[in-house]
Amino acid sequence: MGSIRIVAGGLSGPVPSGSFRAREYNREPNDTADLIAGYPSPRSSRNMTQTPTMPSERAHKAAKRYIYAWGGGHAEGSAQMRDLLGGKGAGLAEMTSAGLPVPPGFTITTEACNDYFAAGEKLPDGLWDDVLGAVAEVEKETGKGFGNADNPLLVSVRSGAKFSMPGMMDTVLNLGLNESTLNGLIKLTGNERFGWDAYRRFIQMFGRIVMDVDGQKFEHAIDAAKEARGAKQDTDLDADALRELVGTFLRVVRESTGREFPTDPLEQLDLAIKAVFASWFGKRAHDYREYNHIAHDLGTAVNVVTMVFGNMGDDSGTGVAFTRDPNTGEKVLFGEYLTNAQGEDVVAGIRTPQPISHMAQELPQAYAEFERIGQRLEKHYKDVQDLEFTIERGRLYMLQTRSAKRTAVAAVQIAADLVAEGIITEREALTRIEPAHVDQLLRDQFDPSAKTSAKKITAGLNASPGAAVGKAVFDADRAAEMAGKGEKVILVRIETSPDDFHGMAAAQGVLTARGGATSHAAVVARQIGKPCVAGCAALIIDYATKSARVDGLGFSEGEWISLDGTTGEVFVGALPTTAARFEDQAELQQVLKWADKVRRLQVWTNADKPEEAAQARSYGAQGIGLCRTEHMFREGERLDIVRDAILVAFQATRAKEKTAAGGSLSPEDADAVTKFDETMGKLEKLQEGDFYGIFEAMDGLPVVIRLIDPPLHEFLPNYAEVLVEVTRMEAQGVAATDPKLVSARETLRAVEALREQNPMLGLRGIRLGLMIPDLIKMQTRAILNAAIRRVKAGGHPHAEIMIPLVGHVNELAETRKILDAEAKAVQEAAGQTVDFMFGTMIEVPRGALTADAIAEHAEFFSFGTNDLTQMTFGYSRDDAEGGFLLSYVERGILPANPFQTLDRVGVGQLVRTAVEKGRAARPGIKIGICGEHGGDPASIAFFDEVGLDYVSCSPFRVPVARLAAAQAAIAGAAERDK
Ligand code: ADP
Ligand code: MG
Ligand code: MG
Repeated sequence: MGSIRIVAGGLSGPVPSGSFRAREYNREPNDTADLIAGYPSPRSSRNMTQTPTMPSERAHKAAKRYIYAWGGGHAEGSAQMRDLLGGKGAGLAEMTSAGLPVPPGFTITTEACNDYFAAGEKLPDGLWDDVLGAVAEVEKETGKGFGNADNPLLVSVRSGAKFSMPGMMDTVLNLGLNESTLNGLIKLTGNERFGWDAYRRFIQMFGRIVMDVDGQKFEHAIDAAKEARGAKQDTDLDADALRELVGTFLRVVRESTGREFPTDPLEQLDLAIKAVFASWFGKRAHDYREYNHIAHDLGTAVNVVTMVFGNMGDDSGTGVAFTRDPNTGEKVLFGEYLTNAQGEDVVAGIRTPQPISHMAQELPQAYAEFERIGQRLEKHYKDVQDLEFTIERGRLYMLQTRSAKRTAVAAVQIAADLVAEGIITEREALTRIEPAHVDQLLRDQFDPSAKTSAKKITAGLNASPGAAVGKAVFDADRAAEMAGKGEKVILVRIETSPDDFHGMAAAQGVLTARGGATSHAAVVARQIGKPCVAGCAALIIDYATKSARVDGLGFSEGEWISLDGTTGEVFVGALPTTAARFEDQAELQQVLKWADKVRRLQVWTNADKPEEAAQARSYGAQGIGLCRTEHMFREGERLDIVRDAILVAFQATRAKEKTAAGGSLSPEDADAVTKFDETMGKLEKLQEGDFYGIFEAMDGLPVVIRLIDPPLHEFLPNYAEVLVEVTRMEAQGVAATDPKLVSARETLRAVEALREQNPMLGLRGIRLGLMIPDLIKMQTRAILNAAIRRVKAGGHPHAEIMIPLVGHVNELAETRKILDAEAKAVQEAAGQTVDFMFGTMIEVPRGALTADAIAEHAEFFSFGTNDLTQMTFGYSRDDAEGGFLLSYVERGILPANPFQTLDRVGVGQLVRTAVEKGRAARPGIKIGICGEHGGDPASIAFFDEVGLDYVSCSPFRVPVARLAAAQAAIAGAAERDK
């Protein structure tokens, strides 16, 4: 078998054998301190940043090289090899190369996992031999023997995918124990209690994780043992008690599985490796990947790591810590640890862990070293690290490092600080913040005044910030089910496990009774951006009755509760929330200014009212990409005016045509014209006022105003309701002359006349203005008169008049004729000219395909990607989203909801074509997008790629889009550099 070869500096050759304990574990403290301080010494002279990416050769029996080992200060892998080694394996290798204290071990690659499944869940030929070879190297390195009764080597078997994933197999510790190695362990350590504790943990973990025994059965056995002995905590159980417990555990395994617990360490290892592989396709892991859009074919690596023991007494311990506070971003070590404990004890909430700061007193030397290592790793990875460590009899070992998950607040704070500290550049900082983080920072908070009068029932740990309001649900399946029906829920659990992930994802927030800041609930909630209050110890949760109580107060399933993840408070009832204040977030504004320097795409906003426009402008909007005039029609008394106009619109239009052709009008026709002109006049005044306000709010910036778009029936009462009303009156024998019935019948006739089979494909958009030209004329007058008034008031309005739904160039040419004539008249009447642009939306596939012809008549394009998506797919959005679309996405028929993230392949192709044709016909034509995709980061990346000038999104998405546009520019530059 081959031994570990030295990677660095191209050296190769066997590492001198020797006792791992002597060389690694008992390194002189100064030696380590030097390494951490980065002083030149034989080992640390290798700069972390120059870790070689080319691994050394390794002999292998399998067709491929599946194994990368580390130990003795050398590693075959590196941080660059996350694809192959997974995040954990790459981190262990990198830390080892850096001279940090890591127990030796090896990684079996993700490729092995994929090949295992490809071969029908069979280890690739030769892999087992290679594993045995790697085990032998670790034996040599540590001076211990796997299965050796005198000096046993124990290992942990740990899963580790490229992206850290809850839902993967839990770690099995102390593997290699059986009756005889246990005796060796006890003899070596002289600590009988420790030995039996390690053994019972091993049986418990291996039994539950690898052999699928219900974990509750072990827990019950522990509880029974504690009760029998009057022990409060697990640590109160003595060696005898633990020995007895081992007997019970072995019986539990036998009874649950019908087989004996495997005693051969190699068999244990084989089973554990396969269990890790199998967990890749476990339901929990699968769900997690679905939610996070992680590919299913990445596979997981397996890490086999020499055990170090945090449960050897009070000078031993284990912990988890972040190099900065992941909630606030504050630059302090943040974490928890437990003395005399093993790994998962900290996160499992079995005993309450101590804050890491206590360690400075309890284990000062290890603490100081840990602090230095943390800082060094942070500098090396140029990011905040999430570290796992164990202290064995005063000696520190690093077991994991990875970039820390963080809250939105922390993400922004950390990015800003790392730039200030000179660790990363502004550009790098922009890639450290997720657009979702920005979104979260602008999300609601609880109204502080409402909180003071609210019914607070308890408080826990502020595990993930934000305000969450929802109905209490005590089960993840139920939470997902209710959320699926559009209900807001809060998942309430004693503690969460990876099995609860789908419920957490569906919930507004998560509340747990147990667990600390590093518990599953806390970590996952932060990651998916859900508020979480964890460890509400006073809360008594009863799954059977689906209720929770604190003293007299409480709530049951379906009752509203409110969580403040920022403070840890829990309230009954639904508390009102207030909007987060962008003005107060200096770091966020700083980061977005960096984004502005980097991005090419402009960010505009969709705003229909002056207040919205002002809001968006304060968020950094550079224009209005869509002002929907009809939204102004729906407010208050306006709707009545609009209805009155619509009811006579067609009659009046025909009458006007008659007059124009020299005909004379009937009294009814003349009446209709009068009524129509009168109501349109009122509307014009109202609209002019609206536009004036918007031009004022956006002074100096472009404002795209879209002429009326929706089918007119949308402004009229619902057909079925009017029909029911008329029918009811008729059935009640109301006289035909009763003014109420007369008016109801009139409305019914009008509504009937406007009814369409497929309104979305009917009389709407540009077609409306061609059928009722007064709509174009009135809106043109309102827009231009408002602009003229602004100019006269010293303002700088930039109106861009936009026509929706063009499918044929002739539609646009005809519309423009009407519009231009009216514009000319308005300016002449006012004795004042104003600049305005005339453009169109591209949202009908035919419009996109003939964009060159259309560009002859349009000075700008704006993609209406909502309609374009509907018409390209042939879906009506309402019917699709209410019906089959989500099922399509779940079943993988569609990769994503195309109304959320632009379908690049289909719809995107039309966008690309239209851009190319439009620019060919009219070089420099201004092109933007105003569909909902304008606020979606993935879609923004596409719009950057196809070279649009701007994206326009809702005001609250403007900051998100600024960041996303910068990230798109950075990614685009990286792509071109390749
Ligand atoms: P996770 O992916 O859930 O973080 P890990 O593989 O990191 O799982 O293991 C969880 C914990 O188990 C670690 O934080 C550490 O405390 C403990 N652990 C893992 N391997 C070892 C080891 N070789 N020696 C001691 N403790 C270990
Ligand atoms: Mg870990
Ligand atoms: Mg549209």
